[in-house]
Amino acid sequence: MAFFEIVDPAFRSYVLFNAPVKQLATGFDWAEGPVWFGDANCLLFSDIPNNRIMRWTPGVGITTFRQPSNYANGHTRDREGRLVSCEHGLRRVTRTELDGSITVIADGYQGKRLNSPNDVVVASDGAIWFTDPHYGIASDYEGFKAEQELPCNVYRVDPSGGIDAVITDFNCPNGLAFSPDESRLYVADTGRIFQGDPQHIRAFDVGTNWRLSGGEVFHRIEPGAADGFRLDTEGNIWSSAADGVHCVAPDGRLLGKVLVPELVSNVCFGGRAKQQLFITATTSLYSVALNRNGVQRP
Ligand code: MG
Repeated sequence: MAFFEIVDPAFRSYVLFNAPVKQLATGFDWAEGPVWFGDANCLLFSDIPNNRIMRWTPGVGITTFRQPSNYANGHTRDREGRLVSCEHGLRRVTRTELDGSITVIADGYQGKRLNSPNDVVVASDGAIWFTDPHYGIASDYEGFKAEQELPCNVYRVDPSGGIDAVITDFNCPNGLAFSPDESRLYVADTGRIFQGDPQHIRAFDVGTNWRLSGGEVFHRIEPGAADGFRLDTEGNIWSSAADGVHCVAPDGRLLGKVLVPELVSNVCFGGRAKQQLFITATTSLYSVALNRNGVQRP
């Protein structure tokens, strides 16, 4: 069985010819939001419809980290290593403190409730950037069906707690990530119905005081959508797609694919050298060792 599809010959050096795409666990309904904890030697990820956050530990397997999870979706870690989570159910972004208590980072904007925060990253200054599409309130499957009060924006919460809508011209923003030097911010638009148009990644230039400009269409995912992605140290984007994980060069060209037998939702780098790509895909968690290293922080 082929685990990779080479589009650009250079991609051969990105993957390891004898490294399998392994199914680590299965039995979930919509696995999402993987985040690696090297200090605890485990991966956390969401099983959104089942309202739980799972933990995968090498040599141990799957245990439940948190249930109910308020239909948590995307996760990351802040500059102090704390878990930051998007919750569809309570329509908010939270931080899990080191003692286990929960701090609300954002749950509204200009007096209105957020839609259903989807994915989140933390910049080097500690600011928290997240997307707020409507998917979690569009049905009762991944949250609670409700009226939308705000457009589907991208928000930045600065280290002092102030919230700004920094991108306001999207249909439905979803995955997002910075380039390694934070000079660019990539944000996916996956559209109101998710698998229709648009299904592209846009690239923004990050200026002084984190001001964004540009925003041109950078790459169109086909087939599927850029539900979630992370970057390696060379600035290549490893994005979810319908047939696996697509690797896109910093100039927007598709280099190759990691083939996965289920619809992929999201990825993160982890393992000893951040060379292991963890892949959440519909009912299962997969991983593959790569010859590239992730920049996921910390
Ligand atoms: Mg997503």
